[in-house]
Amino acid sequence: MKFSGKNVLITGASRGIGAQIAKILAQMGLKVWINYRSKPEIADALMSEIVAAGGQAAVVKFDVTDEDEFIKAINLIVECDGELSYLVNNAGITNDKLALRMKTDEFTGVIDANLTSAFIGCREALKVMSKKRFGSVVNIASIVGEMGNAGQVNYSASKGGMIAMSKSFAKEGASRNVRFNAITPGFIETEMTAVLSDEVRASYEQNIPLKRMGSAEEVAYGVAFLLSDYATYTTGEVLKINGGLYM
Ligand code: NAP
Repeated sequence: MKFSGKNVLITGASRGIGAQIAKILAQMGLKVWINYRSKPEIADALMSEIVAAGGQAAVVKFDVTDEDEFIKAINLIVECDGELSYLVNNAGITNDKLALRMKTDEFTGVIDANLTSAFIGCREALKVMSKKRFGSVVNIASIVGEMGNAGQVNYSASKGGMIAMSKSFAKEGASRNVRFNAITPGFIETEMTAVLSDEVRASYEQNIPLKRMGSAEEVAYGVAFLLSDYATYTTGEVLKINGGLYM
């Protein structure tokens, strides 16, 4: 993969899909800033693994729902490296419940964690990337934002919002050569989906044309493509990585 930029911030990168994105982008030559919120030992171990393999990595602690912390982190990166070339808004949570039982704060909590945080990241990235007239952002949304899912009105609203928001940011960023795209993973093997019962997992797999869940690595390669110079004419796009479950 070919990159004109040199560094990338990945939110929620200490584990799951985010950690795999960090490893793959580091292998491809980018300096990766690994954001973590709660487990410094895991983030440090990932940084050490990347550095031991010959890559460049740094850790940066902040909670994506804390606007001041998020802005400070981006400023720190720009101070250290002179730029922020790429951003991956990956951090996300679920808090599943049937809509009739869902309290309003259980709805807004997921919107804040997934959508408002991505808005802050996109806005701040656009500010710094505009100065260089270069940058690319990938928002990790979800298949659930495209097709809906019972028990996930909060999560689906947050992810559907990320898709629409990416397109609007793409329109605002285009004149400054800053691209915004979204990825909508299907069911991917991580701790987020480890909570599914064997029965639910089997029924999902039965419905997936490729008959299996995806890997974090398969999502990470999609991220790498959208950030890279191979996608310089792609903005406002939604890349589905879902084994054919939703076409
Ligand atoms: P995961 O294993 O649960 O990891 C989530 C990551 O986000 C963790 O590193 C977590 O940090 C971080 N995070 C959560 N809230 C945060 C906050 N407020 N500030 C900073 N970091 C925060 O999830 P995953 O499966 O890798 O999912 C990654 C992204 O892909 C999410 O946006 C998810 O919605 C999306 N996605 C996943 C799937 C799937 O099947 N797995 C499918 C579609 C979309 P802590 O360790 O501190 O909690």
